[in-house]
This record gives sequence, C-alpha cells and structure tokens, in this order.
Amino acid sequence: MTILPTYDDVAAAAIRIQRHAHRTPVLTSRTLDTALGARVFFKCENLQRMGAFKFRGAFNALSRFSAQQRKAGVVTFSSGNHAQAIALAAWLLEIPATVVMPHDAPAAKVAATRGYGGRVVSYDRYTEDRDQIGGNLAERQGMTLIPPYDHADVLAGQGTAAKELLEETGPLDMLFAPLSGGGLLSGTALATHALSPGCLLYGVEPEAGNDGQQSLRAGRIVHIDAPRTIADGARTQRLGNITFAIIQRSVADILTVSDDELLECMGFLATRMKLVVEPTGCLGLAAALKHAHQLQGKRVGIILSGGNVDTRRFTQWLDS
Ligand SMILES: *Cc1c(COP(=O)(O)O)cnc(C)c1O
Repeated sequence: MTILPTYDDVAAAAIRIQRHAHRTPVLTSRTLDTALGARVFFKCENLQRMGAFKFRGAFNALSRFSAQQRKAGVVTFSSGNHAQAIALAAWLLEIPATVVMPHDAPAAKVAATRGYGGRVVSYDRYTEDRDQIGGNLAERQGMTLIPPYDHADVLAGQGTAAKELLEETGPLDMLFAPLSGGGLLSGTALATHALSPGCLLYGVEPEAGNDGQQSLRAGRIVHIDAPRTIADGARTQRLGNITFAIIQRSVADILTVSDDELLECMGFLATRMKLVVEPTGCLGLAAALKHAHQLQGKRVGIILSGGNVDTRRFTQWLDS
C-alpha cells in the first residue's frame, strides 16, 4: 500500500512554489451573491502562470528533482495544460523537458509548449500508445516521467490553490472544483480537510464524462470511453489510483453539468466579471448554479481552474 500524501505535503509545496507561482486573486460578484442569496468566492486560476492551476503541481514536482534527475530531464504526455505547465516549470528550473503529444494536437498548444522551450515528440493517437512512448523515453534516456495527476507531488501542488483560497476567505460551507483525473480535487481535499473541516467538497465533471461519479458510487475506479464534451480538460477516462483513494474518503459528492450549462457560465464570467475561463474551468460554477437552492445563506468557494481557450472559438461560443 502506498502512503497517501497529507496536508503537510500541500504546505511544503506552497513554500516551494511561492516565489514562482502567482497568488491568484479571489473575486466576488455582487450580482451573483444577490441572485443566490449566498457569498461566493472565485479562486481565479485562469490568471495563474500559463493560464491554469497546473503550474503549481508541475513546479512542485520538478523542484524536488535530484541533481541527476535534473540533468536527465523530465518527460510527460499530455496535449493540454499539463504539457505547458511542465514545459514552463522545466524552463524556469533549467531542466530539459520532453512532451509526448498526439500529432493532431492543436497547433497553438504545440507552439506554446515549444515556446516554453519544451521538446515535442509526436505520436499517432490511433496506432501508438503514449504511455509506452513516454515510458520508453524515461527508461532509455533516464528521464523522469511526471504524469498529469496521479502523482503525490503533483496533487500536493494543486492543493495550494485551495489553501490560498481558504486562508483568504476563512472557513467555507461548500467548495466546488472541476474534476478530470483528480489531481486538483484530491489536493483541494487535503487543504479543505485541514483548513475548513466542516466544508462540503464537490467535484464536478461533464455529464458525458462522469467516470468519477460512477467510480464514487461503485466504490472502485470505473473506466469509460473518451467522452464528447467541450470541456477538453476533463476528458480523462479514469481517475488515478492515488487521487481516487483521497477523493473517495473526502468528497461530499461528485456532480455533473451539461455543455450548455458550461457555455452559460462562460458567458456570465466574461460579461459580468470580465474573466476569460475555458469550458473545463467553468465546471464548478455550473454545478453551483444548478444546485442554487442549496446555496442560500452559505459561504461558497468555486475554483475557476483555467483560461486557455482559443479566442476564435471563445467568441463563437459567446455568440451561440
Ligand atoms: C487539468 C485541468 C482540470 C482537471 O484537473 P485534474 O487534476 O485532472 O482533475 C480542470 N481544469 C483545467 C483548466 C485543467 O487544465
């Protein structure tokens, strides 16, 4: 049995990242508070470096490398925010980074990863297995593989966002966080349990990709087919082993929302709060609005997890 990370790991991560990650703002909306009869606090990780909370976990993990690991470099597989987070953290720490990406990954994401100095290795997502390619690179070239969520240092780093939020707001009644592989939610659980033990923590997934909800109900990790949803940061097909162990014992529930509900939140955040938030980043707000009747008189936290969205699609979505 592996020993699960604790709040001490989140606190240690906070010290490691403090001079490098932004302490993102906590924003409120009087319009929303009045409409809900609640106090809602948004932790704005869309304003984090490289545009998502993932910088926290990546920087924490890489800053723990030994001299030998630093020299050989880091490898990861991802086409999304984790790739950019690893590339940026590695660049800051002067560690060579290799990112294994599908050959049809969005050009903007490939460019962003290269822009942070990452080496991109492409693979065919229909015929090749990224885990194997990443594993081979790690083995043959001595690189350290840092996966996107199922890793103690990664999830401890992600937990620093909720730590900052709760330090600023004090105890909350409810907290909503997006859920894909569970790094953010499990780290958030460690911070919440320590700093606001009475707080009900909710993970939120897209309806089409509710493997986490199914897993919580079944009491074991449920694997699903790649879901179709605009929440491209939440298309993971299964939770991690470490993340599930923490999530299972600490969340109040896992909720789901539709793509239309995400679009509505994207519009609200853009027009009323002047915030650009990607669809996955809207999961928490969408679930809070869906369960508005339970929020009355409550102090509620919502993690806006990221803001990396193609501007053309963003404006199309706002018009739709
Ligand atoms: C990765 C990501 C998530 C999901 O995080 P997990 O740790 O995989 O659950 C949510 N929102 C954004 C913006 C992300 O990049």
